[in-house]
Amino acid sequence: METVSQFLYIEIKKMANTSRSQLLFEKSLKLVPGGVNSPVRAFKSVGRSPVFIQRARGSKLWDVDGNEYIDYVGSWGPMILGHAHPRIVERVQKAAGDGTSFGAATERELEMAELIASIMPSVEMVRMVNSGTEATMSAIRLARAYTGRNKIIKFEGCYHGHADSFLIKAGSGAMTFGIPDSPGVTQAISADTLTARFNDVNSVETLIENHPNEIAALIAEPVVGNMGCIPPKKGFLGEVRELCTRNEILFIIDEVMTGFRVALGGAQQLYNVSADITTLGKIIGGGLPVGAYGGKKEIMSMVAPAGPMYQAGTLSGNPLAMAAGIEMLTTLKNDPSIYARLEEKSSRLEEGTQAIIEKHHLPLTQNRAGSMFTLFFTEKNVVDYETAKTSDTKKFAVYFNEMLDRGIYLAPSQFEAAFMSDAHTDEDIERTIDAAERSLLKAFQ
Ligand SMILES: *Cc1c(COP(=O)(O)O)cnc(C)c1O
Repeated sequence: METVSQFLYIEIKKMANTSRSQLLFEKSLKLVPGGVNSPVRAFKSVGRSPVFIQRARGSKLWDVDGNEYIDYVGSWGPMILGHAHPRIVERVQKAAGDGTSFGAATERELEMAELIASIMPSVEMVRMVNSGTEATMSAIRLARAYTGRNKIIKFEGCYHGHADSFLIKAGSGAMTFGIPDSPGVTQAISADTLTARFNDVNSVETLIENHPNEIAALIAEPVVGNMGCIPPKKGFLGEVRELCTRNEILFIIDEVMTGFRVALGGAQQLYNVSADITTLGKIIGGGLPVGAYGGKKEIMSMVAPAGPMYQAGTLSGNPLAMAAGIEMLTTLKNDPSIYARLEEKSSRLEEGTQAIIEKHHLPLTQNRAGSMFTLFFTEKNVVDYETAKTSDTKKFAVYFNEMLDRGIYLAPSQFEAAFMSDAHTDEDIERTIDAAERSLLKAFQ
């Protein structure tokens, strides 16, 4: 009887109505390219139209048809405390009452800078911007201004936002949709972006040898999230750091995803490595549009109006965004047990999934760094772009759809990380493991 009732429960879930989402998507397709304002939101690669979200709270999302989902996207990273966290909501509401933007200096921006500098020792000075993309594009302009060199090194499959220089062998949506090199990026710009293989320090060394005194910066996701989760091999980041130092190349650690995520102090704390310039985003805004770049005083003093490297922003340091970010970072800083809980929950989900893999002998590989993780549909050890690409994306698509129908909201792409939040409950995790077993059996039947 037990099995029968569970079966019925699933079939009811599977009949979930998404007709209003479909209607809204059809209308959006006529007015918005691809019907979405960021490509990763489309469910194109999993053969379905996206669900439109109406509201969220804690670990849950509700779509416009009233379906409930346990959310592992977390707005692609920011919602580490869960959705609609009461203290963040209250701070933003209060800030809004005092005015939504002044285009002038505020005390909140100082408070934010103090918070970031107190959490990340490599950030002595910081400039607030409005997105991760702005942070990374400003960071490489700064590196070029500081070194007087033009070229940068990035890793294949890493995503650093959508600025021209980074859309070369890019990860995330660019990888999902098979457009890692975007048209519209001039040859002159792409010639200045060199690509190395993640977790392969020799590939970095070769590029440096072939371009002596030409490389301004190396930018890396310290734990890759944008070709699925790929942690660095032991010692890799330290070796890259040393190569950069020896060749007077600035090491830009792009912590837009990993900052305040893999540890309070980000990947730099977790792997004991230090950046020349750090880029931040996602969690730092508590769900509002924020980015930041910061680093050594000597380098950051190049930024206008302290120095000649120009970078500006009408809405930078926006009062609502600062209010949300301050509340977020203060909460994370004052309660270190959050990271212990995230680790415990994430490892429980990983172990539960591993047990399914072993029980049914499934050709799957899991990668995890703290509360970032990916289930790859390949037996290979996934350590870089090439090995990530061995994943069976068709089977992933079946798995994704089966999970969605069981009320589990995953990123609609094999090449994205999943995120645990502090709001996920034991019951959420049990339900997810149960749904994963049923969904995986469908994908491999
Ligand atoms: C999301 C992301 C970006 C881009 O941030 P946006 O706010 O989407 O512009 C840059 N780098 C990394 C590592 C990211 O994960």
